[in-house]
Amino acid sequence: MESLDMLRFIAERRDGKQHSREGLALFARAVANREVEDYQTSAWLMAAFLNPLADDETTWLTQAMADSGRKLDRHRLPKPWVDKHSTGGVGDKTTIVLLPVLAACGLTMLKMSGRGLGITGGTVDKLESIPGFRSTPRFSSLVSQALRCGVALSAQSSVLAPADKALYTLRDVTGTVGSIPLIVSSILSKKLAANAEIVVLDVKCGSGAFMKDPVQAERLSESLVKVGEQLGLVVKVRVSDMNAPLGRAVGNALEVKEAIDTLSGEEGALTEHCVSLASETLVACGLARDQNAGEAAARAVLQNGAAFMKAYGWFQAQGATEAFLASGLKALPTSSNVVCLEAPQAAGRVLGIDAGQIGLLVADMGGGRRRADDVIDPEVGVWIRRQVGESANGILIELHLRPGEPREAEFRDRALGAFQFSTR
Ligand code: URA
Repeated sequence: MESLDMLRFIAERRDGKQHSREGLALFARAVANREVEDYQTSAWLMAAFLNPLADDETTWLTQAMADSGRKLDRHRLPKPWVDKHSTGGVGDKTTIVLLPVLAACGLTMLKMSGRGLGITGGTVDKLESIPGFRSTPRFSSLVSQALRCGVALSAQSSVLAPADKALYTLRDVTGTVGSIPLIVSSILSKKLAANAEIVVLDVKCGSGAFMKDPVQAERLSESLVKVGEQLGLVVKVRVSDMNAPLGRAVGNALEVKEAIDTLSGEEGALTEHCVSLASETLVACGLARDQNAGEAAARAVLQNGAAFMKAYGWFQAQGATEAFLASGLKALPTSSNVVCLEAPQAAGRVLGIDAGQIGLLVADMGGGRRRADDVIDPEVGVWIRRQVGESANGILIELHLRPGEPREAEFRDRALGAFQFSTR
């Protein structure tokens, strides 16, 4: 095989010419093996953002990224081999609820998840706020854990789809996340490498998502289905609203807390979302005859404690400390600097909460990355006390800040500025 001429490869994309299948394979391998400088990969990413890959190029890149590392051998796991993924949204902690729910309903869930991307948090960053949680268990132990506990989750690693790991990190800090072909290849390459057969995808749409409007979300959905089917996957897509944050918490440890509350049977917008997605997955896998039956099954395992116990076993298997387990999954990092904000006097009801602004705020407070090497503060974030449609009376939102935060006044203004009110 010839070697990659990176300068020519960048120019090809810049000039809107078609890449060959072989060129994309060389690129994915070189990126995975760290043979390309980050500045050149970043230049290609920006060119690919401005001149998007065509469908066949996206399919080739996806396959090449999946082939850039090892494949997960699932043959010891019972079928269906199903996986779930979200395109990313503000406050989206769905995976932490959904995996134990599906395991309690009889599926074996083995999933690779990402870190925060752009303004959207990542499941791995969230889970790492659990004291002791290991997000990169040994590759060889993932299957045994999934068999034993029903759930195993790994961060992107240098083993499975390493090209995605390298590209994902650079996209996050080069303003190139929101490209449909790059999102499609990122998500589906991980599913192929993990040998999933059925993939349920939650495409987020709104100010707190990469797809800002329904037309873009529809285009992303179509591309996920088309490329997925070309690569032999069964892909089910649903589009869900991301104009307001999902649930009440945004920020890593706070989102885990909300997920655990939900697993403990608390009801709310997050429960509704997870129950509906769980049902779609059960129907796609043939474990529920229709949406209503699937929802009833998901609700039952949330109410009877079975989903909570699956989460307990999962966290324990991935290293959660005795103290955290003994606390009933409650002893998460907390901020010592919590500020409660009330609505302006004339406000009647909450009409909207801009998810994009809240996502950016939490990232700036220390809950996300602006540079690849930024360290995340697990305890910072916001807890929304008044959601869309609720009365604006009383405390609207809590800010969980770093101790002595010098930008507190700015963060207060920005948090209140994300709310829209009616006067009555
Ligand atoms: N999730 C991913 O894994 N990749 C993306 O590009 C977006 C969401």
